[in-house]
Amino acid sequence: MPDIRIKTPPLDKVFEKWKQRAVRTDRKKMEKEFGTKGAVFSLDAVSAAEYVKETTKEAAIYFALKKSLGPAPKGKEENLVTAPRVVREQFYSFKGAGKINKEEWKGNEIVPHFESIQAVSCKNCRGKGYIENKCKTCKGTGKIEETLTVLVGEEQKKEKKPFSYPCATCFGTGNRTEPCKECGGYKNMYKYEELPVPFQTVVTGAPILHSSAQTKYEKEIGEDLHKMIEDVEGIKFSDFKELDSKAEASLGYWNKNIKKTINSAGSDYKSYEKDKDAQITSQIYLFPMILMNAETKRGKKFEIYSLGSGEKFMVYSNF
Ligand SMILES: [Zn+2]
Ligand SMILES: [Zn+2]
Repeated sequence: MPDIRIKTPPLDKVFEKWKQRAVRTDRKKMEKEFGTKGAVFSLDAVSAAEYVKETTKEAAIYFALKKSLGPAPKGKEENLVTAPRVVREQFYSFKGAGKINKEEWKGNEIVPHFESIQAVSCKNCRGKGYIENKCKTCKGTGKIEETLTVLVGEEQKKEKKPFSYPCATCFGTGNRTEPCKECGGYKNMYKYEELPVPFQTVVTGAPILHSSAQTKYEKEIGEDLHKMIEDVEGIKFSDFKELDSKAEASLGYWNKNIKKTINSAGSDYKSYEKDKDAQITSQIYLFPMILMNAETKRGKKFEIYSLGSGEKFMVYSNF
């Protein structure tokens, strides 16, 4: 069996790489944090032995995938509502907007589309907006019939005489118009569709990184690895079972967090294997990590991380 052990970089080498970069980035800050008043600042005096307080060995797991982000699942719902309900609805328009980036999209994936609004003549009132009913007051005759008792002649004989006058409720028409209960008098109903947002179908490469050091640089480290996986040395595995069985021997050290990280990376990997929209495009890499807790001469605490082997490693720091 070949030796699969990977050597972590010597601490001095990691510290040196950080130091050179830090001084290139902001020399003044280095002088302020590590310099001595009245003396010429010398980078040589900034050593790991003096300023690194604690070192722990951790590990990171990396793999890459391609994920296709497609349109939302097909769906179409048609609504038929009155005009005031149209006004209360939130509509969206994608006319001329091109395809939408799903990752940037906030909100539902199926939304009412403005361009789908259509007026539909109300079936209940045939587009008139009102319903004609017989006037209840005059029973549809347009007239109110009364009987007057009239006293006739010298004897004042009571006689009944008809007296009719136009109905004031229907203005003599015999009909009353009332707003249609269906369309509320607005003559039309309005049809609109709830449709999926037109997302673009894109295939994006995504780096997946799990690290036992729990740094806030996971995203950055993942992205760096995605771009320059050849510049960092790790141990490649083609499946998680193999990684799981050889990780401890490969690293030459072990801790609870590393075990946990491997487990969670493993279940993450499994779920991507099952994901129809995802495709794992790289082998699984196991990287040694070194975490240094350091403190400047002025007492400012900071961390330095290395990722990779003694031959090829990257350095991160929150200095
Ligand atoms: Zn109507
Ligand atoms: Zn009437």
